[in-house]
Amino acid sequence: MADAHSHAGHDHIWADDLTHNQELVLGALAHADGPLSAYDILDRLRDDGLRAPLQVYRALEKLTERGLAHRLESLNAFVCCADADCHRTGSSAFAICERCGKVEEFAERAIEKRLQDWSKGTGFVPSRMTIELRGLCAGCAAA
Ligand SMILES: [Zn+2]
Ligand SMILES: [Zn+2]
Repeated sequence: MADAHSHAGHDHIWADDLTHNQELVLGALAHADGPLSAYDILDRLRDDGLRAPLQVYRALEKLTERGLAHRLESLNAFVCCADADCHRTGSSAFAICERCGKVEEFAERAIEKRLQDWSKGTGFVPSRMTIELRGLCAGCAAA
């Protein structure tokens, strides 16, 4: 079960049945300005008692499995989910700014549908669909 949850003035996707470590990891992602690698997360959570990389990896694995966090393949880093609908569809798209590091999650149903149709047509069974756009965000492009 996942809901939009308002926390410290911003919204992100949360669940109320997380383990303590999962909460810590998701919290770190939710309060970061950009994507974090597993080691960035470990660094931030050392004072909270998370010391072993394995604890972070396990939490990340569960969170990404449930769609509460996403792995950005091209950066090998993680962000928290910003789109409650992506749990339903199992697909997500990200626009990654290469200058300021901002990541925007969005859903593009038309592309998703084309990829699903292609999969159906070829008999390929996708387990995950991640679209990553890299470039400049509107702010950086205008600067
Ligand atoms: Zn998402
Ligand atoms: Zn930018």
